[in-house]
Amino acid sequence: RAKAEGRGRVEVFDTRLRRHARERLRTAAALERALSLGQLRLAFQPIVALADRTVIGHEALLRWDSPGGVMSAPADFIGVAEESALIVEIGAWTLMQACRESASAFGRAEDGPAVWVNLSPRQLAQPDLPTVVADALDASGLPPGRLRLELQERVLQGAPKTARANVAALRELGVGLVLDDFGTGYSSLRDLPVRAVKIDRSFVAALGTSPGDAAIVAAIVSLASALGIAAVAEGVEDEEQAAQLLALGCPYAQGYLFGAPGPRITSEP
Ligand code: C2E
Ligand code: MG
Ligand code: MG
Ligand code: MG
Repeated sequence: RAKAEGRGRVEVFDTRLRRHARERLRTAAALERALSLGQLRLAFQPIVALADRTVIGHEALLRWDSPGGVMSAPADFIGVAEESALIVEIGAWTLMQACRESASAFGRAEDGPAVWVNLSPRQLAQPDLPTVVADALDASGLPPGRLRLELQERVLQGAPKTARANVAALRELGVGLVLDDFGTGYSSLRDLPVRAVKIDRSFVAALGTSPGDAAIVAAIVSLASALGIAAVAEGVEDEEQAAQLLALGCPYAQGYLFGAPGPRITSEP
């Protein structure tokens, strides 16, 4: 009996999964049609300077006017588009459209407001992304400095070669890169009752050579201190690193300089 029930549950689950998959396929097909029928459009949301509320640019946000007159928000269809790789085609359209609308609204001067366009991780993995971006700039006449591309922090995780090459090529083109939803990685500091944070040793290793890494360590130390959490630097191997960490205000450290992992608990380094 238990067995029969178990099997029943598996079947229900299976049916539901299949229906879900079918629905997503249908959405993908409808979305593909929408793209070719010109039913996608962009909404533009102003980004302002807080002090005087002047508009410095706009984020372009994708909208789908579906035939029923219901307007879908990206959350409803971007995921489907990403799964089906349709996002690459849609993304190219978005880039072209955003550049054209910005150029036609604000002209082609270098110092006009920028247009900020979201890039999906899939787009960043396409070897021809720099060409797609360059084409949008060429066709619209928008100066590269007026285009900002919003990336998610995770796009370089696992460091795919193509994504890195694309970032370099985009920089070369003169467009500005933006980290979207920055700080979501810090949310564990809010959600977990932690006593300490351990600063990854890659930052410690780069301290001497990279001002950027020193700035990140300084920011972590000050964030931890403001939250009443201890900061512990990992992988400290020489006196120079120890001195730098101390100068940056980091209160605790661990590493070969103070002691390698050993068989006995001892307060002797
Ligand atoms: P949204 O317009 O519903 O877009 C949601 C997310 O879909 C975006 O988050 C972005 O990740 C993705 N998205 C939109 N357009 C594109 C696109 O062309 N390509 C790709 N690959 N992804 C796209 P994001 O970028 O963080 O955008 C900010 C979101 O916050 C937008 O939602 C916007 O409408 C919404 N928003 C803006 N101001 C407010 C506010 O004051 N309150 C609330 N609750 N939401 C706001
Ligand atoms: Mg965004
Ligand atoms: Mg965002
Ligand atoms: Mg560790």
